[in-house]
Parts: sequence; structure tokens; C-alpha cells
Amino acid sequence: MTFDVVVIGAGAAGLAAARLLRDAGKKVVVLEAKDRIGGRVWTAYPWRDALAVEWGAQVIHDCDEVDKLWPIKKWPRTKVYWKGSFGRGKEFRYFFDGRWITGDENRGRMGMAMTSTEAIVGRCEPNGSVADVIKDWSLREQHAAAAEVEAVYAVDPAHLSAQSVVSDAKSWGRYRGDYRLAGPYESVIRDLADSLQIHLGDPVVQIARRVDPAKIITHAGCEYVARNVISTLPLGVLKARAVVFDPPLSQGRQEAIEKLGMGNVVKVAIRAQPFWRNLEYATSRCSIPTWWPAGSSGPGTAVLMGWAGGKSAKALAGLSSRNIIGEIRRSLRTLFPNHPQISDDDIKFWNWSKDEFSRGAYSHVPPGAEACRKTLAAPDRNWLHFAGEATHERFPMTVTGAVLHD
Ligand SMILES: Cc1cc2nc3c(=O)[nH]c(=O)nc-3n(C[C@H](O)[C@H](O)[C@H](O)COP(=O)(O)OP(=O)(O)OC[C@H]3O[C@@H](n4cnc5c(N)ncnc54)[C@H](O)[C@@H]3O)c2cc1C
Repeated sequence: MTFDVVVIGAGAAGLAAARLLRDAGKKVVVLEAKDRIGGRVWTAYPWRDALAVEWGAQVIHDCDEVDKLWPIKKWPRTKVYWKGSFGRGKEFRYFFDGRWITGDENRGRMGMAMTSTEAIVGRCEPNGSVADVIKDWSLREQHAAAAEVEAVYAVDPAHLSAQSVVSDAKSWGRYRGDYRLAGPYESVIRDLADSLQIHLGDPVVQIARRVDPAKIITHAGCEYVARNVISTLPLGVLKARAVVFDPPLSQGRQEAIEKLGMGNVVKVAIRAQPFWRNLEYATSRCSIPTWWPAGSSGPGTAVLMGWAGGKSAKALAGLSSRNIIGEIRRSLRTLFPNHPQISDDDIKFWNWSKDEFSRGAYSHVPPGAEACRKTLAAPDRNWLHFAGEATHERFPMTVTGAVLHD
């Protein structure tokens, strides 16, 4: 089978690229390892009822380019602002060192720690890691800052370049809130995929071009021939060298792959009567530190989402499912001591480090790797191109970065 372009991966990046090329008149095929499209955008129905759970991306971050990003359809969406207010309406709650932080403490460094990683790092151009920036803070302030960093960047502050936080903040600009889609995130993915040629359920194992054109070989032994290849393989998959490049990738690219970091997230979903009442967001030092309601929680059954990122996710990685459920229960007991009984069936989780086709949640820049996204994004020879969240210099880690090509 001969194509102008073979795109590897049917996540947001692969579908957006294939769509652009198809609209430009190119003969394109998308090869996907899993038996579904979407990659790290994954709307699941774990209870086989109408309750949807977003195991991957949940919001669309607002930025100047948001309309460029979603030009094909105005999906119904609502704006949410994470204001960090302690008010009586929607409530943020912070539990550190055995007690809830009060609204009065939401200032100074504690206020910065609880507001955003950008606020933690400040507007200077610091070298080193985020942990270096906060090393003289009180232990409680450091805990609050670490919880924020792990909730956003999915990495221990010691492994996150402070400079990369400053440059991300410049790209996003002033915080403008996020969009929550009124329906499932998969609707965006379905629209991107509409009428594209996509082959599911067969991982690519080799991309070879000793002589023109390139040959792409899958696990099932299918061969695709193309003049150009776009790889949207997640950074975790590239790090694991799960796909053979022949000839091998350039040394510079391989070094960039090794230097960039792939953070991890264990995402949790609890089905229950909304015992969390007016909670908007809670964070803590529990095994599952961060919690928020999945959507509007009215009467009846709803979903509470939990998040362990970075170090917290790493601590769960070696545990059995039974023990992870034990840790989830322990976190719930600490933060919501009066919650009603929850059966094991009402507790679901997804550990992204165990996902063979992403091997982690999303990328980050460790100290010293600030130039590596650019290296990763550059074409390797004139026929092999790279896309995906880890390659985007301005909006990495997000669906925005995966979809935008610039
Ligand atoms: C828990 C979590 C929460 C997130 N929350 C948000 C959020 O709220 N907002 C936001 O904007 N972003 C969020 N993100 C990040 C966002 O989901 C990703 O940045 C984005 O979806 C990445 O898209 P991609 O196309 O680059 O990669 P992917 O979606 O990972 O696509 C790559 C595809 O390649 C496939 N693949 C892998 N190996 C092979 C192979 N050998 N052969 C063929 N195919 C292969 C994979 O199966 C996958 O489908 C979140 C991510 C996670 C994990």
C-alpha cells in the first residue's frame, strides 16, 4: 500500500496532521496501535452506564489561539475559572499537615503555592529546578507548592526546569480559564477523525528507509510504503525505543528524547451520591492528593475525580490494584471523613505509566533540557517528521500543543 504520507498514532496530533494533509489533497493513512482513536484523549464508560469518565484530557485550556485550534466546529463548551476561592459557593480546600488551610492563610508564599506553578516560580528567569526556587520556604509552603506542581506538570518539582515554567507561562499569557466540553471529549476526536483512513489495533514496529520510499512495518506484518512519515509516538514510547527506526534517529534527537521527562498520572474516578457538596477542588499530601467533581454535581449519582501525579503517582506504581484501591480509600477517609460507604465497584482508576502505548501521562522539561523540545520537533532527514504534545514549544503537555502545528 503506497501513500504520500503515513501518520503514526491516531491521537489528537496524528488526526489533526492527517486532516490537514488530506484536505491539501494528499493520500494519507493513520496507523494506530490501539483499537480506538484518541490516545491520551479517552472518554470511557467504566460502569457501562451513562456516566462518562475522561481518563486523559478533561479541559481545553484557553489561549489566544483557541479558535484556531478548534476551527472545524464550535463544540458546546462552558468556561471554568479556577479561582482558588475559599468562599461558600464553589470551594477550594487545602489539607496539609493534618488540617485544612483557612482562607486567611491564602497569601504570601502559601498563596503563591496554592495559586499556580507560575506564581511559585515568579517572573524572574531562574536556573535550576522548581525545587531549587522553593528550597528556603517553610515545609508547609513547600508541600503546597509540590502538590500544585504535581497536579499540573505531573512531576516532582526537583525534576522540573524553573525556566520552562516561565516560558510556558509566557506562551499561555494571562490565565483566562479553561473550557469544559458540554459533552464527552471524544466528540472532538471523532470530528477530527471524520472520513480519514485509519487502521486500528496494529502497532507499528519499524520505520525504515534505507532506500526511497520509506517502509512502515506493523506487528501483524503489514507493510505500508510512503514518501513521508509523521511520527506522533508519545515521548514515553520513544524513550522505551519500542519502535525501531532504520536508519537510527540522529544522535541529537536521541539525546533530546532521553533528556526530556515523561511524567506520570494515576487518575481515579469515584461513583457516588455527591458527598463532596460544593467542592471545586481539594488538594493535600494524601496518596491521591487532588480531587475535583467531574461535572456539575446535582442530586443523584455523580463522579468525583482524583489525581496523583509525579512522585505521588510513582509511589503507587509498584502497588497491586487491591493496594491502590486501599490508598484511594485512605485518601477519601482523610479528606471526606463522613463520606458514605463506597463499594469497590464504584472505584476505578487508570495508571498511565502502565499504558503500553503512552508509557506515561505527558512530557516535561527537566533542568538542562530547555532546548530539547525544539530538537525533537525538527524533521529528521527530509522525510521523517515529528509531532505530538512533547514537540510543541509553546503549548506542550496539552491537546492544544498536539493539535496546533507551527
Ligand atoms: C491524565 C491526563 C490528563 C490530561 N489533561 C489534559 C487536559 O485537561 N487538557 C489538555 O489540553 N491536555 C491534557 N492532557 C494531555 C493531552 O491528553 C495530551 O497532551 C494529548 O492528548 C497528546 O496527544 P498526542 O496526539 O500528542 O499523543 P497521543 O494522544 O498519546 O497519541 C499518540 C498515539 O500513538 C499511538 N501509538 C503509540 N505507539 C504506537 C505504535 N507503536 N504504533 C502505532 N500507534 C502507536 C497511541 O496509542 C496514541 O493513540 C492530559 C493527559 C493525561 C494523561
